[in-house]
Amino acid sequence: MDLIETITSTFSFLATILGSLLLIALLLSIVIIVIVLILLAYSFKTGNFLFPNVMIISLVFFEGPIRAVLRLLRIDDSRMDRISIYLRNKAMCPTFRKIPYTERAIFIPQCVRSINCPARLSPEGIKCKDCGQCRVSEARKFAEGLGYKFFIVPGSSFIIRMIKQYQPKAIIGVGCLCEVKEGLDLMHKYKIPSIGVMLDHSGCVATTLNWDKLFDVMKVSENKVGIMSSIGSNMPMEDSICNTCGEGCRKIP
Ligand code: SF4
Repeated sequence: MDLIETITSTFSFLATILGSLLLIALLLSIVIIVIVLILLAYSFKTGNFLFPNVMIISLVFFEGPIRAVLRLLRIDDSRMDRISIYLRNKAMCPTFRKIPYTERAIFIPQCVRSINCPARLSPEGIKCKDCGQCRVSEARKFAEGLGYKFFIVPGSSFIIRMIKQYQPKAIIGVGCLCEVKEGLDLMHKYKIPSIGVMLDHSGCVATTLNWDKLFDVMKVSENKVGIMSSIGSNMPMEDSICNTCGEGCRKIP
């Protein structure tokens, strides 16, 4: 009888401890979610970001409940996605800039081409013919001049194939909000530091892109002297780096 009582009281004690721990975890989660929502509200209002590293981790762990609350408040999912991309870019930038240009690759979507593009599909993506009808040609020459591998992406599986073939150490990915977010998630799995650049206007054809921002991202490097001479620019490099992580996301639409 004593043994049964001892076992029962032990289970009861353990259940109480477990229940208390779960309650503490739940309360802690609610507190973190509330803090993140306050930080997000601040970001929405001002375009500035407080405690970015805390926000990145919190958004990863509590994405579901945070989205649910934002939906209840009738806040578009895309605003959170933009913040998430911005924060990841910001977090990745210090690692990304250490990788030499020659070990980086850039992937841009085929929809940024002119609708009259004469380029043809090849095993290495769509090959620009430098016809000058869009700025892809200029971007390709600039990127390859620095040392990048430059790809115009015909389809999503293409990126994985090129990564396996060329094994770049860092990546710039251009795309719509959804593509960039998924792409950054994918590169996170491959452990490749990546910067996402979002299209200004998405769609299937003739989409638009802030090309100057893309050029700024391409230039990012620790070797400022090398960059200045290679791009022949008078623009202070610090400005360029700031634009890389901040421009476009500084004002959250
Ligand atoms: S510049 Fe290149 S990508 Fe643009 S339309 Fe001409 S061939 Fe196509």
